[in-house]
Amino acid sequence: MSNKEMYKKILLEKEQELLATQKLSAESEKPVSLEDPIGRLTRIDAIQRQQQALHTKARTEKNLRQVREALERIDSDHYGKCRKCENEIEPERLEYMPETTICTKCMRKMTR
Ligand SMILES: [Zn+2]
Repeated sequence: MSNKEMYKKILLEKEQELLATQKLSAESEKPVSLEDPIGRLTRIDAIQRQQQALHTKARTEKNLRQVREALERIDSDHYGKCRKCENEIEPERLEYMPETTICTKCMRKMTR
């Protein structure tokens, strides 16, 4: 199996995982009703859980978009190249995060 085939497999698995996460978080997303006969602490707890769920949802959507873009890119020559410095992205990094478009060096520069 070539590296690209392996990355493709990882990407497709990630896509499925993310879709499952999305489905799960849709469940906990229901708005907290003030009419519900629950205690104040329980309500705060519910609101926090809901915010957490919204956060997860946003992250999942972003990741899903990246994964799908990577799947579109994978058969082209652009795949695996850093969009900043245009060097090849480290294979270890791609194996862990095949949807990435940036190499470790540029990533470190960005987050600094
Ligand atoms: Zn780079």
